[in-house]
Amino acid sequence: MPWIQGYPYYLLMGSVLSFYMGISSYRHRKSAGRRYLWILMLLVSLIFIATAGEIMSSSFQAKLWWKNMQQAPLFLSALFTYAVVKEYVSPSAERLPVKLAIFSIPIALDVLLIFTDTYHHLMRSEVGMATVAGVSGITVKPTLLSMAFIAYDQLFGLYAVCLLAVSLMNRPRAFLRRAFLLFVGLLVPVVSVFLLPLLKITLTGFTAFTYLPAIIAAYLCLFIDSKSTIYPLTKIKILEHMKDGVVLTDRNDNIIGINEAATSILFEITGISNETWMGKNIDLFMRHHKDIGAHYSQRTEGQFEIVCTGIREVCYGVSLIATEHQATENKGMLIVFSDHSEKKRYERELVYQATIDDLTGLYNRRHFMQMVQNQTIPDGLGLALLLFDIDDFKLINDTYGHLAGDQALVDFSNKILQVYQNKGIAGRVGGEEFAVCFFAEDKRAALMEAEDFRTTMSDYKIILNEHDSIQLTASIGISFTERREVTFEDLYREADEALYRSKNSGKNRVTLGREPILREAMKG
Ligand code: GH3
Ligand code: MG
Ligand code: MG
Repeated sequence: MPWIQGYPYYLLMGSVLSFYMGISSYRHRKSAGRRYLWILMLLVSLIFIATAGEIMSSSFQAKLWWKNMQQAPLFLSALFTYAVVKEYVSPSAERLPVKLAIFSIPIALDVLLIFTDTYHHLMRSEVGMATVAGVSGITVKPTLLSMAFIAYDQLFGLYAVCLLAVSLMNRPRAFLRRAFLLFVGLLVPVVSVFLLPLLKITLTGFTAFTYLPAIIAAYLCLFIDSKSTIYPLTKIKILEHMKDGVVLTDRNDNIIGINEAATSILFEITGISNETWMGKNIDLFMRHHKDIGAHYSQRTEGQFEIVCTGIREVCYGVSLIATEHQATENKGMLIVFSDHSEKKRYERELVYQATIDDLTGLYNRRHFMQMVQNQTIPDGLGLALLLFDIDDFKLINDTYGHLAGDQALVDFSNKILQVYQNKGIAGRVGGEEFAVCFFAEDKRAALMEAEDFRTTMSDYKIILNEHDSIQLTASIGISFTERREVTFEDLYREADEALYRSKNSGKNRVTLGREPILREAMKG
């Protein structure tokens, strides 16, 4: 087989390739999802070199030395396969370095035992040399202890593949192909540990080659392909920079993910200081918001609102989103907090503009009508509608100017508000026409109320500007009903007719419905 003569050189080429990839990955060692890849690649490069050394050496001693040199990178490569995957699939792998240090203690022990001659027999019951297809290398018969170490080590590879398989299921479609490539690549060295003995492939150094698909796939997926390069880094960045607060809880209600916005929003809502939410139970928040808590504990989705009245009033929209399609109590939840304050202010502003007359601050005509229509007359009382029309208002405008006229309207409506705000509803229904609606015992009470206002106004001086103040009079028309079925239109028409009669009979007077104007009515 002529190709096998170049076998050591293929190994060296593998070493150079993985070394190159390791060095170029080193630049990205600080970006999430790619922190450990360069180490794995350099480890693979070492395995290749040591294997080439083993094959290319001629003496048994030299071959054994190279064989021993392979052990540390071989063992560590399974551990770092786990590290690469773990860090790639989970957003927070902060404690990973500590874990890796702890997990590598048995590996260090294994390597130490191999290198310590006295205990060599603990690891290998037999050491020999075999030549397969013209390639001669060391063969060892591992002891039970050594096999236990190997089994321990392989668990990391298996676990890594499982982790990746699970993350594949939750991955967006766009990333599926790349993640699948990575998965298949990593599967090769992990599976071949079990497959090579079964297939009776005993070629020295073949294990090193099984790592090549893994690191090439990882290199392609995490570095070359720009779309996967930014994932999951982007995901974290997006979350971190979102204005919305995002909290992810697990099935035990513990917070397993929280972005900065959520930390400060939760602080604003609960007063519990920043930094401490990760790992805490979400009940700390839910206990203050029982309605949200009830939905949360049932794992049902919903939208809520929380209003915080502090230095400034803030309104947060809270969305509960189930992380699984089927709502069960075993699943975690996603809680999204959005600042609705601006929206609320805008809504309030819109409502204000739609209902309030901006010059006088009284209800506008449309809203006043609605308010009156919604009134239910209580038993034993009647509804009185008073229409006011300022007398000779045009003259005020003509004499003092429009701005002074405006001021007069504001002052007049303030007076109306002052008198009626606790008694009924007041609105501006026309240019210099106002309306008031309230409950009264009978027509007479309504009349007296209007007459009181009229006389109050006769004594009241309206300040128009720095120099001018005037006295205003108003004509008033009243309609009164005890019947609930009477429509606003009827009531208004009757009051308007009464107002017309007040105007026609000399202004500055009160008229109730179709009855004679006040002075005559009083006499009656
Ligand atoms: P009457 O006693 O018959 O009610 O006479 P009047 O002058 O009050 O009634 P008229 O309906 O002839 O005129 C109403 C005036 O009110 C005309 C209009 O310019 C003025 N006006 C309406 N809206 C406003 C406003 O918002 N500001 C000012 N300054 N004037 C207004
Ligand atoms: Mg008028
Ligand atoms: Mg008028």
